[in-house]
Amino acid sequence: MTDRRHAMSTTDSRTHDGRTPAARTDVIVVGAGPTGLLLAGDLAAAGLDVTLVERRPAGRSNLTRAFGVHARTLELLDTRGLADALEATGTPLARMRLFGRLSLDLGRLPSRYDHLLITPQYEVERLLEQRAADAGVTFRHDTALRTLHQDADGVTAEFTGPDGAPLTLRAHHLVGTDGHRSTVRTAVGLPFPGTSVIRSIVLADVRLTDAPAETLSVNGTGDTFAFIAPFGDGWYRVMGWDRTRQVPDSEPVELDEVRDLARRALGTDHGMHDARWISRFHSDERQVPAYRVGRVFLAGDAAHVHSPAGGQGMNTGLQDAANLSWKLVAVHRGEAPDPEALLDSYQTERHPVGAMVLRTSGALVRLAMAHTPAARALRALAATCVSALRPLSAKALGTVSGLGIAYAPTPGGGRTSGRRAPDVPLREGRLHALLRAGEFVLIAPEGASPALPSFAPTTAARAVRATWTDPARRTTALVRPDGYVLWTAG
Ligand SMILES: Cc1cc2nc3c(=O)[nH]c(=O)nc-3n(C[C@H](O)[C@H](O)[C@H](O)COP(=O)(O)OP(=O)(O)OC[C@H]3O[C@@H](n4cnc5c(N)ncnc54)[C@H](O)[C@@H]3O)c2cc1C
Repeated sequence: MTDRRHAMSTTDSRTHDGRTPAARTDVIVVGAGPTGLLLAGDLAAAGLDVTLVERRPAGRSNLTRAFGVHARTLELLDTRGLADALEATGTPLARMRLFGRLSLDLGRLPSRYDHLLITPQYEVERLLEQRAADAGVTFRHDTALRTLHQDADGVTAEFTGPDGAPLTLRAHHLVGTDGHRSTVRTAVGLPFPGTSVIRSIVLADVRLTDAPAETLSVNGTGDTFAFIAPFGDGWYRVMGWDRTRQVPDSEPVELDEVRDLARRALGTDHGMHDARWISRFHSDERQVPAYRVGRVFLAGDAAHVHSPAGGQGMNTGLQDAANLSWKLVAVHRGEAPDPEALLDSYQTERHPVGAMVLRTSGALVRLAMAHTPAARALRALAATCVSALRPLSAKALGTVSGLGIAYAPTPGGGRTSGRRAPDVPLREGRLHALLRAGEFVLIAPEGASPALPSFAPTTAARAVRATWTDPARRTTALVRPDGYVLWTAG
């Protein structure tokens, strides 16, 4: 940290066996996927000393995997000055087909990002990695966590580095963003309860000679399911599933299998060729019971995994990171009136969101796979209700896009605390641009200079001051660095 006002100090810099002196840092982040990159970048941008450890060698990406960035995630990226650059890499989708006739009109989203952005996960990671590097994160690639131990003063983590060399690091806090097979989760002794929800999904990134007329082509016959989405640069993502061909992930996939599946589900293979990536995977629904164990936190796929239906995984992980980062910053700066309660609020706020994502993506995939007459009737009914009833479609839109996610109100925080703060225009600029400072934003009526509430985990000197554009507006609002309202008054 540049401003070293730590609420705690790391007095013991030795490994648990007391032999090797360990290098010290404020926070160790394990896993440089999207979740770890956003988190490490936020912490370093706020002045913390951060080491990001990644098992993969430098330069080897996570390949395509996720390909849909939802509106709320685009807002989070906007508050870090990255949304425009990401938008330039992909294709906006104004309507999202979920299954059967059920589709959502994303154009109705109350956000400057009224769409789903189709872009490969590696583009998100490229931008986040550059930001983290610019902010001063220390990257250690080719280095895998083996185990960790925590005590009253900090966490000691042991790694295997390049060429098998051992490495020991010591930090105040450690965050496991090391994906669904998380070593951090195992090291703190947490289970990952759940089940396998869908097996043998095939995926390919291909070129097409005969592109679909609709931006997103999706269909299911009951025994097969497939969809095709454009990345916007001539490449398309194909995903398919065949009830009659359920094989282990290790079974090789050829493009012919994907073509055949597309023909049966969609009626055509659109002349797919030149696959740059093909894979077969299965999908689990699992969630860790605790997102925090002492000084260790879990975020992203390390904390929750679910089916790819609805495209929520990467988006949820990025929101976990945005929720946790400012809390760790406030505690490290010594500005949290109740540091333990603030760190616990990461679990209180994000665990229910993870559970909700498991439920909704699970329901979507089960409806998409429906093949008994009763299940298909239920699916048709669900589609009709959601399409016809405006409150239901608004709820579905809020859930899928992430814009509808809200947290419990802060005690004493006022009626709208816990809700997402929309990108309102202010005298000093729009709110989401002001949040790029990474600090709380205090919005007050013209001429007023209100004090912060006693429970605010920041200082008056640090909060960004702003004024409503409407002189008649007499309320005061304190917006958290992750874009949720902490407190309103007046
Ligand atoms: C086929 C597919 C399609 C998907 N589509 C979507 C979609 O459309 N939308 C969406 O939001 N999500 C989607 N997802 C999910 C998304 O890819 C994941 O949710 C996302 O990658 C999770 O990010 P993460 O940073 O939490 O974990 P990961 O991306 O898994 O990153 C974890 C990192 O930790 C590293 N690591 C692991 N163990 C160690 C260790 N011991 N030491 C050091 N480093 C370690 C790994 O190398 C990896 O880089 C999809 C996933 C798949 C497989």
